[in-house]
Amino acid sequence: MDFNQHLLTAIFESSSEGIVMSDVDNIIRSVNPAFTEIMGYLPEEIVGQPGNFLRSGKHDDKFFTELWHQVQTENKWCGEMWVRRKNGEIFPEWLVILAIKNDAKEITHYVTIFSDISERVASAERIAFLANFDALTNLPNRTNLYDDLVNYISTANSQHEKFALFSINLDRYKNVNASLGFPAGDLVLQEIAQRLQVLFKDEGIVGRLNGDKFLGIKSTVLTVQGAAHRAEEILSAINHPLDIANTQLTLTATIGISLYPDNGTDPERLIDAAEAAMFENKLAGSNSYLFYEKNMNVTAKERLAIENDMRIGIEKDEYQLFYQPLVNLKTGKISSVEALVRWNKGGVGMISPAKFIPVAEDSGLIIPITDWVIKKACEDNRKWLDANLPFTPVAVNISALYFAQSDFKERIKASLENANVEAASLKLELTEGLAMKNVESFIALLTELRAMGLRLLIDDFGTGYSSLSYLKRFPINDLKIDQSFVRDLVTNAESRAIINAIILLGKSLGFGIIAEGVETKEQLVFLKDNQCDVIQGYYFSKPVPSEEIMKLLKENSFSNKI
Ligand code: C2E
Ligand code: CA
Ligand code: CA
Repeated sequence: MDFNQHLLTAIFESSSEGIVMSDVDNIIRSVNPAFTEIMGYLPEEIVGQPGNFLRSGKHDDKFFTELWHQVQTENKWCGEMWVRRKNGEIFPEWLVILAIKNDAKEITHYVTIFSDISERVASAERIAFLANFDALTNLPNRTNLYDDLVNYISTANSQHEKFALFSINLDRYKNVNASLGFPAGDLVLQEIAQRLQVLFKDEGIVGRLNGDKFLGIKSTVLTVQGAAHRAEEILSAINHPLDIANTQLTLTATIGISLYPDNGTDPERLIDAAEAAMFENKLAGSNSYLFYEKNMNVTAKERLAIENDMRIGIEKDEYQLFYQPLVNLKTGKISSVEALVRWNKGGVGMISPAKFIPVAEDSGLIIPITDWVIKKACEDNRKWLDANLPFTPVAVNISALYFAQSDFKERIKASLENANVEAASLKLELTEGLAMKNVESFIALLTELRAMGLRLLIDDFGTGYSSLSYLKRFPINDLKIDQSFVRDLVTNAESRAIINAIILLGKSLGFGIIAEGVETKEQLVFLKDNQCDVIQGYYFSKPVPSEEIMKLLKENSFSNKI
């Protein structure tokens, strides 16, 4: 072997690129170790096979005809080619084919040198995918939907058809993240995405805009009823219970609908109109749909403005705390009051918490609002004490998002100290949903709060999914029966049975029992006969401002109404 042959052999053996030598008939004559490494074939398995043995089937005949034509005429071809490994997997390689000629200029051999570029190709494909699809749900993203919308518009326009856009927003999705954790929140979005995809598969498209916001397009809509029907289908697909993190969840959504061409003829207008209707609908209540109307101009920008108004409202002192008395049925006296927030929005008037609390929970503003509520409740409590009124604990509603803040205990402590009231003056109203994420850490946190001296109650009891076996370990003071059972107690035997069961169970575990939403004497009598301890409802009093609750505390007798 001369020096050059030595050199060539060394390169052949040690190259990290695969090298194949084939004869003029393209029969493989030798391969190097890198070939075996990449393709999986030992030399004895592949030598003697035709070169096309490695083809993947991804390229057509024309591709190879042109390739060989170039090798013949230019002695060289380079490019990307998909081939098949021994294990069957196909992958892309970067390939150079050289024609080797003898002195008579006749081709005697071909040398093919290649490297595996599957990783590079995969990341390029991923990038292309991510430009058009949402990585979490694999649904089309905003850019992609926008392009589709342009196509839908031109088709509908040429055929004089209508189509509908659905802006779909999950209700209180932040609570899911807060109570079950982000991985579970992601699973929820994936599951919902899948359900929506099934619904839109045959006649339109659905994508995810961001967060818990989806946009669906139904390609042909003959009537408004057709769009309404689709909205109902979306709601019921979302309402169907979900099993996530060992918990059964039932979600609701709010939908806004816009129609082409009635509400707009370009993508921006149509999306804005659907979102405006969705937002308008959010303020009205959840689990429903609403069609866009001319005067709804709550665009995404304006929604930010409302959230901003809510934030400024805190500085401008636009929030007010009302109090509703809870009456002990044995003594006829007020045993505690519940603080219920009101928003007196400048220029608009009083807005009900049923409307703005969900928006505050979606935007995270519930945290500063709750801070304010607690501070105010402590200050008012101090005022009542200073006026020599009887000691009366104030109950404050706590959202999941607030409860998930790691420093909320310190902030509560600060409010108590600033107002100079004892911890027993404050009662936290928690919902069953808060317990879902991790019952053990929930119990640990409750135990800490009790150790601080705070009182705790479970609100809206009977509507969540509390496991009864855990309930007995909750270090709480009271259970508050949800008002839906009280509302139809007189007409519905099942509600009466549930109320009875809650009272028996709660008492046996040593909890106080509260019934809320009591409006009539009839309801009161049933509850009293069944050993309910404490009653809250319009029957005694609606929520009233601090000065008025002071009057009620001063009289402090509802005996004549029992
Ligand atoms: P909730 O905690 O279940 O509060 C009870 C709601 O029932 C109050 O409505 C109260 O005014 C109403 N209510 C009381 N008695 C009766 C009755 O006899 N009949 C009827 N029909 N209703 C009665 P409100 O004040 O509109 O509050 C609605 C919800 O807003 C509350 O439900 C609570 O979930 C939320 N909320 C209110 N204030 C706050 C707050 O400061 N923080 C948080 N996180 N949520 C709050
Ligand atoms: Ca409550
Ligand atoms: Ca309640």
